[in-house]
Amino acid sequence: MVETARGPVPASDLGRTLMHEHVFVLTADVQQNYPDEWGDEDVRVADAVRRLSELPEHGIGTIVDVTAIGQGRNVPRVKRIADQVPGLNIVVATGIYTFDEVPMFFWRRHREAMTELFVRDITEGIAGTGVKAGMLKCAVDEKGLTQGVERVLRSVAQAHAQTGTPVTIHTHAAGQHGPAILEVLKQEGADLDRVVLGHSGDATDSPDYLESMVQAGLTLGMDRFGIDHFATFQDRSDLVVELCRRGLADRMVLSHDTCCYIDWFEPGSLDDLTQWHYLHVSQDVLPYLREHGVTEDQIDAMLVRNPARILAGKAG
Ligand SMILES: [Zn+2]
Repeated sequence: MVETARGPVPASDLGRTLMHEHVFVLTADVQQNYPDEWGDEDVRVADAVRRLSELPEHGIGTIVDVTAIGQGRNVPRVKRIADQVPGLNIVVATGIYTFDEVPMFFWRRHREAMTELFVRDITEGIAGTGVKAGMLKCAVDEKGLTQGVERVLRSVAQAHAQTGTPVTIHTHAAGQHGPAILEVLKQEGADLDRVVLGHSGDATDSPDYLESMVQAGLTLGMDRFGIDHFATFQDRSDLVVELCRRGLADRMVLSHDTCCYIDWFEPGSLDDLTQWHYLHVSQDVLPYLREHGVTEDQIDAMLVRNPARILAGKAG
């Protein structure tokens, strides 16, 4: 069974799954003090319901909302939305998103404080909703394993080792921090079979590096389709084609890393990303992959079997 915002779902019922998306990405305490930026809660929720309702019509059964602490996670709000989109499973995450220091909340607390909260989110539920986290999330960006980032990664790996909940790691593909991440994961006894090296699809010129990460046991997140600022549609798609040709379809998952609203950018500055939406993989990427020799079985692996294996912990 896999935990979702509407409760546990059998892994075999997840269907096609987008493994790295968001509903909203917000700076929570800025929004609290400048609420006009975000606007009307009901309008935002209705917009999310409308957009997410389109996914089942395009064959998507599940999204993993990898929004963590540091990205404005609000599970009561996601639950309100999920209750209005009955055709879509939304898996929510626990974890911390930082590129450098730990949040001040944890700065002077005991070493296990983060792990304890992650485990509580997984075993008891989040913020009184009863919704349990089905994914652990952290980030290793350009600065690599700073003290704070390493502390979060270890805490995530420990919560994973205690609960069996899978892990998604935001990475800076060009930095190739995979080997350093692997060292920590191995020290903490992680099941590498259940860890996604996120944003691997940005490494369009480094298929050999990505293949070595698969050989080491990780699954690659080809999960930013539509973000042309880092790599074009064709380069992202060609990378998936190449890795499928190398026989690695069993070690890739596909996604967009998109959302209904994000406050991290100047208004209008993302308007050129016309393909950055939840339907881009279904409408544009899959036809391209098929045209370039990727088989239905490989697509099924990337969108159905691998997500089920990672989320449920057994062969999907
Ligand atoms: Zn993301």
